[in-house]
Amino acid sequence: MTHVSPEAVPSLDPVQRTSLSDQVVERLRTEISEGRWPVGQRIPPEPELMASLGVARGTLREALRALQYSGMLEIRRGDGTFVRARSEVPGALARSGASLRDVLEARRALEPQLARLAAERATPEDTDRIAGALAARAAASDAEWVESDVAVHEAIARAAHNPILFEVYTALLPRLHESMRSAQQREGFCRDEPRGHDDVLAAIARRDPDAAAASAEENLAATAVWDAESSAPHTAE
Ligand SMILES: [Zn+2]
Repeated sequence: MTHVSPEAVPSLDPVQRTSLSDQVVERLRTEISEGRWPVGQRIPPEPELMASLGVARGTLREALRALQYSGMLEIRRGDGTFVRARSEVPGALARSGASLRDVLEARRALEPQLARLAAERATPEDTDRIAGALAARAAASDAEWVESDVAVHEAIARAAHNPILFEVYTALLPRLHESMRSAQQREGFCRDEPRGHDDVLAAIARRDPDAAAASAEENLAATAVWDAESSAPHTAE
């Protein structure tokens, strides 16, 4: 392994003791990452947090702003501060400037494996949840469709019972939303194409990991072909 030579970084200051607001960030972050403050929920008001943490308003606000930048909190003026994500990963992905193709490639890396594991591990509640999500997707209006499709994929990911894969995959979901919204607006988009979401569930229900993975891959391959064809005139790479 090579190292940066010391002469190359003459301007770095000596390490300081951890600042108070960094410690507050760490404490609040733990509440969120361990799920005691769930996504979508409003966190306790400032006076309560100042009292329980024993810090001044300025320190608390500095910490809240840091967590807002990382994408874990959203400060809504006059309404309170809300939990947006359980980790920094979704915020980092949102800032990464990934293209729709990047999102699709990441899905192809994850979804077949999630479907495979789901076929091995899904409980009856998991298969019910996937079936319910598929029924809602079939009944969804165009406006609800993206939300309902993402819910199907999230239900399959949950059924894989791997907390790391689930965390990584759900971090991708906001980008998945975005990419599907923009796909939906393109000419030639057909919400029931590619078919095969039902095939994934059928394979999971009959505990056939190979077929589940193959169906998930087929769905995404069909989407990739559609994406390449429908965006071809714009991306002359
Ligand atoms: Zn889908």
